[in-house]
Amino acid sequence: MRPEPISGILDIEPYVPGKSKVPAGVKLHKLSSNETPLGASAKASEAAARALSGLEIYPDGQASELKAAIAEVHGLRAENILCGNGSDELLGLLCQCYLAPGDEAIHTEHGFLVYAIQIRARGAVPVVAPETNATTDVDAILARVTERTKLVFLANPNNPTGTYLPFDEVRRLHKGLPRSVILVLDAAYAEYVRRNDYAAGLELVTEAENVVMTRTFSKIYGLAALRIGWMYAPEAIVSVLDRVRGPFNLNSVAIAAGAAAIRDRAFVERAVDHNTQWLAWTVGELEALGLRVTPSVGNFVLVHFPEDEGRRAEDADAFLTERGYILRRVTGYGFPNALRMTIGSEEANRGAVDTLREFLSMDR
Ligand SMILES: *Cc1c(COP(=O)(O)O)cnc(C)c1O
Repeated sequence: MRPEPISGILDIEPYVPGKSKVPAGVKLHKLSSNETPLGASAKASEAAARALSGLEIYPDGQASELKAAIAEVHGLRAENILCGNGSDELLGLLCQCYLAPGDEAIHTEHGFLVYAIQIRARGAVPVVAPETNATTDVDAILARVTERTKLVFLANPNNPTGTYLPFDEVRRLHKGLPRSVILVLDAAYAEYVRRNDYAAGLELVTEAENVVMTRTFSKIYGLAALRIGWMYAPEAIVSVLDRVRGPFNLNSVAIAAGAAAIRDRAFVERAVDHNTQWLAWTVGELEALGLRVTPSVGNFVLVHFPEDEGRRAEDADAFLTERGYILRRVTGYGFPNALRMTIGSEEANRGAVDTLREFLSMDR
């Protein structure tokens, strides 16, 4: 006899974060976790530093200052906002509150791995909807809805593919779902998208009772270390998650820094401009090297490697790491022969492309 976890937990493959170790003496360029090369807004860092005096006081359990800032900037009601210790916590809370053992939740074939982990952690069943050309297929999702389906997770844009679903397709997906199923729109990269037919989903949340949108401060705001996410949802769903979350799930430093960060719109604009410029440049250079790149609207690209011995993703990864460039292996996402590269600083982007050029031109 020994203690046994509930069924499902031991089926979880632990989440493996992006690597960050290179050989001693080699300069590290971490392009493996979709972090911003621009750091955080100076206003956010200053607010965080100020919050460091007063560490003996519990944080505001409602994170009111942060909710007010989010509501103001996005034109939302604070009552519809719930903040989380990273958006990962909110994804977990949705599973905790809406999935019982044996229930089903749908995610897409190359969808973010956190979904399947959180679904299994409830003893529920992750149901995988195949994608078409590494892009969400609405009909494939709708075809997998059963009486046991409680949640549908959609990362839009998706990580690690960088592809997105136009808003009219998101609407079509929502229309096809039973009203009892929650559609979770994970818009972690929404700020980066420059497409007229894209929307993160605010409108749909406002109109429907079964749609939630999650956002994060970990990507464009450069605050990954502080763990800040938020959700825009119908009040009924906010009130459910509010009962279950830790009463002080955001710390005071995170609350202060997040509120300052979201108000610094000039900072966000600069980050978008940087990404738009270097995303286009990086894709152009990689394609010129003969590599296939999945079209991306995020701050990262999925790069596919040749099938020949010595030129595969695994070999490229070793070659790049030796020289200080850390990209992300994406085998766990169903891409054994691709790497995901975050758009970094000019120096990192140029260096990674030059290193890949050297890798591909070597005699084997
Ligand atoms: C990075 C990322 C998140 C953000 O997670 P946090 O917990 O807020 O850091 C959420 N969803 C996707 C698809 C991501 O890539």
